[in-house]
Amino acid sequence: MYKKKYSVLLIIMFRILIILLVLLIVFLIFTISFNKNSNSNSNSNSNSNSNSNSNSNSNSNSVENMKNVKLDSIRTTRNPFNYILEFYRGAPYKGYYIENLKKVEKECLNYLKRDSFSNLIGKTIVIDFDDTIGWTKPYKPIQPEVEKHRIYGDVIHFKPIKPIVNLVKNAIKLGYHIIVITARGPHMLYQTMTNCHRFGIYPDKIFTSCFYGQNQMFKQIMRENLSRMTLNDAKNMTSNQLLNYKGKKDSIYNINIVMTVGDRWCDVKGVIGMLGVKLPEPSDMNSYFYYNGEIRVIE
Ligand SMILES: [Mg+2]
Repeated sequence: MYKKKYSVLLIIMFRILIILLVLLIVFLIFTISFNKNSNSNSNSNSNSNSNSNSNSNSNSNSVENMKNVKLDSIRTTRNPFNYILEFYRGAPYKGYYIENLKKVEKECLNYLKRDSFSNLIGKTIVIDFDDTIGWTKPYKPIQPEVEKHRIYGDVIHFKPIKPIVNLVKNAIKLGYHIIVITARGPHMLYQTMTNCHRFGIYPDKIFTSCFYGQNQMFKQIMRENLSRMTLNDAKNMTSNQLLNYKGKKDSIYNINIVMTVGDRWCDVKGVIGMLGVKLPEPSDMNSYFYYNGEIRVIE
């Protein structure tokens, strides 16, 4: 009788021991993996910090005085989602993202006010729409309510990104023309237009994309072709006509793109002699100046 009781007790203790062992193993595995993650995060943070520090040390106030960093060497960081949320918290009204854009606004405005541009003929700014002028919450796109427009039908209105909207408005006061080139499809033309109008921006022209954002070269080709015609010519062209434009007009009234602004590299790079302003996006939350293949972080 006692023997039987004793053996049952032993079996129960043995089972408890096994359960405890399993729990200990699970706990160890969890702590090891957690440490690994936090180490890799802190490493990537320290790397990006040292990169940005090395960039800032060599910065100067002049746009042309950029550090010799080639675009290919920029590493887009895969940021943890909570870091993205922290960066965009309060957007598009306040927070780190908006503070960063205010610095962009200030530097760009100083650049546009330069004496060398004051009497420049055909001076133009090319600008993107989504997450440049209008806020679409890029890390988790929002679907704002559809509104009815008397002429244009269903329209979706986004919130303005104020620092960039202010930059565009001030640029217009300084005599710059504004051309919007968006990767949105042609069916979004009027939506883009009514959004701009609601923000108080009346672009000289809006070009949409027949590639619906699937062609990385689209905007670069459009910018190159714009530089070979006058603003009046451009106003009378469709996106497809401009994209396939082969002519060249030698006129002092040709479009003179001084600056191109957007949140993707395809919005800014590739064309010589104009200042590219690359705004933050979730995969890389820095702003950059890009000029003739060289870049610097805007801090
Ligand atoms: Mg965009």
